[in-house]
Amino acid sequence: MSKTIAINAGSSSLKWQLYQMPEETVLAKGIVERIGLDDAVSTVKFDGRSESQTLPIKDHIVAVKLLLEDLKRFAIISDFAEITGVGHRVVAGGEIFKSSVLIDDEALRQIEELSSLAPLHNPANAAGIRAFKEILPDITSVAVFDTAFHTTMPEVAYRYPMADKYYTDYQVRKYGAHGTSHYYVSQQAAEMLGKPLEELKLITAHIGNGVSLTAINGGKSVDTSMGFTPLAGPMMGTRTGDIDPAIIPYLVENVPELENAADVVNVLNKESGILGVSGLTNDMRDLEAAMAEGDEKAQLAFDMFADRLKKFIGQYMAVLNGADALVFTAGIGENDTLLREKIVSELSWFGMDIDPAKNVFGNSGVISTDAAKVKVLVVPTDEELVIARDVEALKA
Ligand code: AMP
Repeated sequence: MSKTIAINAGSSSLKWQLYQMPEETVLAKGIVERIGLDDAVSTVKFDGRSESQTLPIKDHIVAVKLLLEDLKRFAIISDFAEITGVGHRVVAGGEIFKSSVLIDDEALRQIEELSSLAPLHNPANAAGIRAFKEILPDITSVAVFDTAFHTTMPEVAYRYPMADKYYTDYQVRKYGAHGTSHYYVSQQAAEMLGKPLEELKLITAHIGNGVSLTAINGGKSVDTSMGFTPLAGPMMGTRTGDIDPAIIPYLVENVPELENAADVVNVLNKESGILGVSGLTNDMRDLEAAMAEGDEKAQLAFDMFADRLKKFIGQYMAVLNGADALVFTAGIGENDTLLREKIVSELSWFGMDIDPAKNVFGNSGVISTDAAKVKVLVVPTDEELVIARDVEALKA
């Protein structure tokens, strides 16, 4: 009987979830936001309660201290010694990390070195790791990589059509992301379909604020839509997804406020996608509310979003030479019945057919008709649980 905490650290936030293991019971969860500012906010949720406080939080170490103190303050734990493991989500594992690992000094150094591949994420992940090492140095500390699941991709899928030196000397290749989510929902889908994962061809669609699709053959990722960075793939909440790269120098030359490539990439990452096209919001619920009131730009954003998703599903149908199932997950994939209906109805030629009685809010599992050749499933993702399980698995 031990408690394990799953950590997802961003540049100014730290999300956490505390589990009783091996029972996998969630004891509490929370988020520290606006780290580095005087009005940071820490929220703790447990036993149906939600407790928030606003206070200055200098850095990730202070955030970790605060959340641990809160666990005691709210009597969720009585002693820090009850926490025996911590698992950290790390965005970029490059070609080094093909699975989760115990974090020693060498692993931490490598995670920091991989910051060039995820400059917004890996330094924050490393800060979270350092904070726990300082405060709870003796517990099992594990890194779980977003990219690890995709290290099974064949070279034909992960290489870009460029000269060798860009790959060998500069590590330019497709790494993918959301690996823990694709891995988890593929396992769940196999269970729901009552078939061994090894015998299934699946297309998993993680559709949240970030969006990625993966082609999974026999449990292995064989292609995925995020690329060298998470900017690639279909349209997203604030990201363009794939565009013609020649747009970048064109904008630098012609738009006065965009002075260099980094300025343009910032626009492509943060001011585009649903937000850019609608001019209103990056949030799908707000977008659909605007559409219902007849907002034409909101409608265009929705239609483009569905269009790009549909094209990627088509690509992966080709990659896999046919699929057994399409799996929807994440905030939009799990909840948006309208989008699911639109996408699946426009892929009927492939043998997909949604059952309106099953495609209802709150329902999960198979949502296609019994006759459908390609099953369609809704599977709630749970990346934190994968992290907690990997900590358990690596405990001595
Ligand atoms: P995530 O990044 O996975 O947390 O997903 C966030 C996205 O899910 C946001 O665009 C939300 O608007 C969207 N979302 C959450 N609930 C719903 C819902 N009931 N219908 C449509 N979109 C939803």
